[in-house]
Amino acid sequence: MEDPIWSARGQPIKSDTDPSVSPDVSLVKSKDHQHKVFVNRSVTLENIKCYGFDMDYTLAAYKSPDYESLGFELLRDRLVSIGYPHELLRYSYDPTFPTRGLVFDTMFGNLLKVDSNGNIMLCTHGFTFLKKEKIQEYYPNNFIQKSDTDRFYILNTLFNLSETYLYGCLVDLFNGCSRYVNCQKGYKYGDLFTSFRSMFQDVRDAMDYVHESGSLKERTLKNLDKYVIRDPNLPVLLTRIKQVSKVFLATNSDYTYTEAIMKYLLETPPCTKRPKTQWRAYFDLVVVDTRKPLFFAEGTVLRQVDTNTGKLRIGTYTGDLQHGTVYSGGSSDIVCDLLDVKGKDILYVGDHIFGDILKSKKRQGWKTFMVVPELSRELQVWKDMRCKYEWGLENVHLDSSSPECPEIHAIQTRMKMVTYRMDMSYGKMGSLLRSGSRQTLFASQLMRYADLYSSNCINLLYYPFSYLFRATPTLVSPTSDRENTTWTLEMGQ
Ligand code: IMP
Ligand code: MG
Repeated sequence: MEDPIWSARGQPIKSDTDPSVSPDVSLVKSKDHQHKVFVNRSVTLENIKCYGFDMDYTLAAYKSPDYESLGFELLRDRLVSIGYPHELLRYSYDPTFPTRGLVFDTMFGNLLKVDSNGNIMLCTHGFTFLKKEKIQEYYPNNFIQKSDTDRFYILNTLFNLSETYLYGCLVDLFNGCSRYVNCQKGYKYGDLFTSFRSMFQDVRDAMDYVHESGSLKERTLKNLDKYVIRDPNLPVLLTRIKQVSKVFLATNSDYTYTEAIMKYLLETPPCTKRPKTQWRAYFDLVVVDTRKPLFFAEGTVLRQVDTNTGKLRIGTYTGDLQHGTVYSGGSSDIVCDLLDVKGKDILYVGDHIFGDILKSKKRQGWKTFMVVPELSRELQVWKDMRCKYEWGLENVHLDSSSPECPEIHAIQTRMKMVTYRMDMSYGKMGSLLRSGSRQTLFASQLMRYADLYSSNCINLLYYPFSYLFRATPTLVSPTSDRENTTWTLEMGQ
């Protein structure tokens, strides 16, 4: 097979300085959709002086569904070990159920798919999909106040997928178990009441335990080939970036885990004859334990890591940048100072809509690139089903002089069926980005805070470092219209 790196390499295109060159160059058109970088707001790569990368689910792409299954099993076993019924052990992870970005209602135990305003698109109780009438009993306006973060928890990250499925399992288990009496806000067992709220808290604590005790990390490191994708294009991308700009790594993971993962990704690529480069040499600065989103605000104390022992050195680091040194904590301001760059000159690449993308843009004005691994599947389904979906739009040539009277009701019914079939092709909870033509809360945040997005950060390889990512011009950009326009135009290229 042809190596995609080299076939995509062309002469640099000075699109922003040479008006005769269209930014929508053939380089992009010839690209496979799977490799495409999508644009919400224009970014001139030539002006980027520094690239920043998150690690987990960004540089380190985890293998799905094996990694989520592992997370689920550890989480499930932890809950049983703290007293949850043994019957829970009968459940194993079903990747077709959860979609990222769902909301858990800690009052009624429901999983909700909502749009940017909080209108409900789907609602499940356990694995039962609720009908319109039932949804209205719970939520009379078919709407949730999503700003009520005390009650509604948004399952934003890919790490949350196993947790999302577990909420379904718990409700399914308690509902079907004769020992428990179903109540509106939880379950009664003798004198004991287990509220959905306490269940939620237990799951959250168990999830923190799985991450913080190191059990997930330990199991991952024991079987890296099973859980982590090692792409030989990654060292190529980082080498090329370092030739033209500064580059840093900022991860919430600890040093020991970061070292093991980055070594695997960058020091042991299969089938390459290139001399080995130490992973740290790919970066001008490496920061672990960043505690994003706090990192993009006041941050924490910056400390040096002793790379021989993995331990932190005592005291706050106040010196200049030392190459090859690994730092712990700190803040985005400190990174700018150490690297001598301004926020607007940084393109930060991450997978967490809140911790990586929203905060770096809103608090620091960084340019943002969001990695959305689900896009590969989303694009495939959309490509396969799109013509069916757009069938109903063919009457748009009619105007007020047209005598024809199309059967609007029949069109609506057909559209509903096609939408349902399309949603089911993504998974039981449908698409990450849409339900029919309505965009999800996740999609609206993606549009708002990510300047660029793609299924993988390695897709940057397909663009020259002088590239102008140009946003589609729109008159105004109310989110739903804008979404339709962008998707239609992008997919039509
Ligand atoms: P990053 O994406 O490279 O910044 O790192 C993500 C880090 O957050 C990993 O070390 C995860 O183990 C950790 N993490 C993800 N979700 C949770 C959680 O729910 N509780 C505690 N730690 C988490
Ligand atoms: Mg991440």
